[in-house]
Amino acid sequence: MSLLLLLWCGVAVAEPDRRHDEHSYAEPTRVRTKDLALELKVDFAAKRLAGTATLVVEWLDPAAQQLVLDTRDLQITRVDASSDGQTWKRVKFAVGKRDRIVGSKLTIEAARATQVRVSYRTSPMASGLQWMSAKLTANGKQPFLFSQSQAIHARSWIPLQDTPGVRFTYSARIRTPKTVVALMSADNDPAVVRDGDFSFRMTEPVPSYLLALAVGDLAFKPISPRSGVWAEPSVLERAVYEFGDIEKMIVVVEGLYGPYRWGRYDLLILPASFPYGGMENPRLSFMTPTVLVGDRSLVGILAHELAHSWSGNLVTNASWKDLWLNEGVTTYVENRVIEAVYGRELAEIENVLTQRSLLEKLKTSPPARQRLRAVATPGLGPDDLSDVAYDKGQWFLQALEVRFGRATFDAFLRKWFERNAFTSVTTDDFVASLRSDLFPKKPGAITDAELTAWLDGEGIPKTAPVAASARLRAVDDIRMRWLAGTAKLEPATLAPWSTQERVHFLEELPETLPEAQLVELDRALALTGTKNGELAQRWYPLTIRSGYRLTRPAIIAFVERVGRRKLIMPIYRALVATPEGLAFAKRTFARVRTNYHPMTIASVQEVLVEASRPRKKRLEKD
Ligand SMILES: [Zn+2]
Repeated sequence: MSLLLLLWCGVAVAEPDRRHDEHSYAEPTRVRTKDLALELKVDFAAKRLAGTATLVVEWLDPAAQQLVLDTRDLQITRVDASSDGQTWKRVKFAVGKRDRIVGSKLTIEAARATQVRVSYRTSPMASGLQWMSAKLTANGKQPFLFSQSQAIHARSWIPLQDTPGVRFTYSARIRTPKTVVALMSADNDPAVVRDGDFSFRMTEPVPSYLLALAVGDLAFKPISPRSGVWAEPSVLERAVYEFGDIEKMIVVVEGLYGPYRWGRYDLLILPASFPYGGMENPRLSFMTPTVLVGDRSLVGILAHELAHSWSGNLVTNASWKDLWLNEGVTTYVENRVIEAVYGRELAEIENVLTQRSLLEKLKTSPPARQRLRAVATPGLGPDDLSDVAYDKGQWFLQALEVRFGRATFDAFLRKWFERNAFTSVTTDDFVASLRSDLFPKKPGAITDAELTAWLDGEGIPKTAPVAASARLRAVDDIRMRWLAGTAKLEPATLAPWSTQERVHFLEELPETLPEAQLVELDRALALTGTKNGELAQRWYPLTIRSGYRLTRPAIIAFVERVGRRKLIMPIYRALVATPEGLAFAKRTFARVRTNYHPMTIASVQEVLVEASRPRKKRLEKD
């Protein structure tokens, strides 16, 4: 689609504004949050946060009287308003009916007050918080709490305008038991004292999904003057080693796209139940411990979360329809960092793997979810809009890089970040920048039809550059000879393989293998019981599909320890394909679910429920 839609009668009408966010009740064109001040007490026994959120707002629409906020499962006890910060008046409010996806609308009769203070407490089941008992942590001594606000979970622990189109500064005072440390996506102090009272300030305006809190038995170790790692003490040394290249990576991205604008860049290693690989909370990326494999082979995730300090945190998708502007651009930058720090060969290996897995995913992905410029659909949450935001977004930018040349494209992207710093943007803004800043550098290098195919088309355009890797071709060669029975898998030959080469070997195997081959493969690559989740998430489903049950105890141990959805969902999905596997999956889930984050529980439940439904009876033709 272009900027104008032509109706059949020939009348041109403006296309709906892509800034509009279908996943928020807020009305940011009428009134807008400028600052948020939190005062919260952390109650581990009750699994609740309780306190106040004070919003400083700016009224844009002269007729507006109400402030509309997003909430989910919050218990609102009172609302006060003030226009001078001195005198406060209790005001009326109403909490709307709960919607399954977007939660409940909170309407406040704020009457144009410039400050609004909401007193509230969270639900023990808040979708954006995970409360963990001490036994579920690495150290087993103190309980742990962490938040995951993206995409629309901030509203489950703070009443606010929960849309990436609104940015605000924030401060917080968090009270905890004296045995733990609280950290936020803000100015964390490496020399913090455990006195049960923590204060934070974030002076750069951020969107709501970047609000983050973690509380636990955490220690800090520096890696460079501006960065370091927070983790439970028993995990700290391993994490410091694994992420040792952090400063090198920051310097690489700064060289490409301009200075790091956020002060410190630290990492927090979460318990293994964290449902994601990483979360780019500003100044403090949250990381899964499942990438601590001891050889730095999975640090692409660090490059990714760091890259978000430019794409996403600095220049933000205005609504989740344009998620590719966060994730596609970040995945592109991630690969550039891998290339600069670890070499072209590894970057190309990653590209081959990414392209293959994307093409595989596209085979089963609904057409509407194959577009970069996604369209909101009633009944779908923000996570369900696009299957391609990361990898197709990256591929699109790689195609532009090839067409315009690296130096020209780097200068374009640097200008994009500089010009749009601390704002929220849409795909239409990106296209406008392409037309004004990139296309004139080499007219005709990409056609309008190609641009439309990338942004609004399904699948991958035929002209896309295809990645290739000699090292992966060598892996292909060994796999083919082994499957043909003309070669054995010698552990000594395979020992030097990187995680990526091992992954590639497994990915291109047939759907099932005979038991003898599974045994030989397991011996050669030491798969059963592996600590490397990238191998586990491919090996265990292969054994399940092949009906090979000897890995079952290791499967239970793996899904009990790990809650990262990417790693465990392929295992659950493989299990539910047979009645016996479904029964095993249900038993296992019942046993391990208390270890999981609410998001992981929801994902596993969806797969189990879907598989338990009786198959629809086929209608017989007469
Ligand atoms: Zn990301």
